[in-house]
Amino acid sequence: MAKPTDELYVRYMRAYDDSVQHGIECAACRSDQDCREGARLYEHFARLQDAYRARQAKRKP
Ligand SMILES: [Zn+2]
Repeated sequence: MAKPTDELYVRYMRAYDDSVQHGIECAACRSDQDCREGARLYEHFARLQDAYRARQAKRKP
């Protein structure tokens, strides 16, 4: 079970929110154009997601 203050999970969810929020607010991302900020946010999210999933996989009984 994840602890309530699971720092990696919190960062992962925050990165997800940032990425989604940017996608809503950014005109370039909404029209599928290149956006450095959007790419940076998504890459950050993807890295945390990988780290989180790798850790979960290790914790399997
Ligand atoms: Zn953007």
